[in-house]
Amino acid sequence: MRYLSTRGDPTLRGFSDILLEGLAPDGGLYLPTHYPRVDAATLARWRGLPYAELAFEVLSLYIDDIPPADLQRLVRATYTEAVFGSAAIVPVRPVEEGVLIEALSNGPTLAFKDMAMQLLGNLFEYELGRRGEQLNILGATSGDTGSAAEYAMRGKQGVRVFMLSPHGRMSAFQQAQMFSLQDPNIHNITVEGVFDDCQDIVKAVSNDLGFKRRYKIGTVNSINWARLLAQVVYYFAGYFQATRNNDQQVSFAVPSGNFGNVCAGHVARQMGLPIRRLVVATNENDVLDEFFRTGRYRVRTTAVETSSPSMDISKASNFERFVFDLLGRDGARTKALFSGGDFQLTPEEFARIGGYGFVSGRSTHADRLATIRDAWIRCGTMIDTHTADGLKVAREHIEPGVPMVVLETALPAKFAETLREALGREPERPAALAGIEDLPKRFTVMPPDAARVKAYIEQHCG
Ligand SMILES: *Cc1c(COP(=O)(O)O)cnc(C)c1O
Repeated sequence: MRYLSTRGDPTLRGFSDILLEGLAPDGGLYLPTHYPRVDAATLARWRGLPYAELAFEVLSLYIDDIPPADLQRLVRATYTEAVFGSAAIVPVRPVEEGVLIEALSNGPTLAFKDMAMQLLGNLFEYELGRRGEQLNILGATSGDTGSAAEYAMRGKQGVRVFMLSPHGRMSAFQQAQMFSLQDPNIHNITVEGVFDDCQDIVKAVSNDLGFKRRYKIGTVNSINWARLLAQVVYYFAGYFQATRNNDQQVSFAVPSGNFGNVCAGHVARQMGLPIRRLVVATNENDVLDEFFRTGRYRVRTTAVETSSPSMDISKASNFERFVFDLLGRDGARTKALFSGGDFQLTPEEFARIGGYGFVSGRSTHADRLATIRDAWIRCGTMIDTHTADGLKVAREHIEPGVPMVVLETALPAKFAETLREALGREPERPAALAGIEDLPKRFTVMPPDAARVKAYIEQHCG
């Protein structure tokens, strides 16, 4: 399998090359040259597989430059009951008639990003060891990406992490999770700004090709193809749990921010998984909902701070991948649209969206509280604020006979303040994380300035 850029650069690359890259040199995102189709016999065989074996099957279709025995070992070491809390890894539970929740958030940091990041940590260590190289990971986070990356990379050979986060904007729990790590290969930098400032710095540094090469800068943000690929697996796993046979269709509702998670659903659907609808749920930062309703992509100048903060984005960094597919993989047109900021699809382009199964909706703070309350009181399940956005919008798109699977992207313990507001009680916290806020914290504060971040990296590269 070879990989190309969404912006038309004709160079084709292998999986191991793009694994350690972020954006393509032309500023685009990497995608495989095609999506392998999974036929009925293969789907039937996959239905019975344990999660790690299913992951190995899916990944093998896209990775041909790691020996299969090695890939299998890495995948088996990643998706264990010890790390993810159950043999199912992503257990599905019913909420109400026709609606199920797929739990993606039982990993070390209690958010779905562990699903991809834990694999990435093992892939990075393997590939760097094979090449005798080092990598400096530069990332931006509004919370969940950063902690997931740090927990995946801590102590890994050949890897350093430089993680930017908006100063003072993450929950006390999220700050404690990240800043309490004492591993010398983990660096927390808090930027005096919002998440988008952090993301802009990452892009600026990555676009400085000289610096990027000299300091071996890589990324773990959701633009990394390997992360997206790891996420494709749980659409298959969720589908198998929600159905009895492969003639059935399901829909997935996905709490969305940077469009990484739901883009993995798009890939699964393109591979032939019988997905009817992909329901994009946004919070008040509704740039994606507006797009799917109108065909207009209108980047906001700043993100609004909400009680589902991991979805607080003003532009969706992964979204370009879907648009590239929507435009018939026209790199020049994709480049033109995304270099200009805002854009409007032509009516003919907009009409194609239906063929990809996408629908959307938005959810507000009041919706979140009402949905959390209703899920707890009426359905007996406690959900976090992001999953609540997913459930709220899912309910607007339910169709008879088609199970709706809502992806649970975090556990309620991460967002205790809003859970208290909704339920008047404390969410349960896994015992291992009791008192985490009291641990000593390690971080460096900086203005939103790419030059300062570069200087810090230079000083800490050993
Ligand atoms: C990252 C995150 C999201 C958004 O996922 P995208 O892949 O950026 O769309 C939603 N919920 C939680 C809890 C997250 O951490």
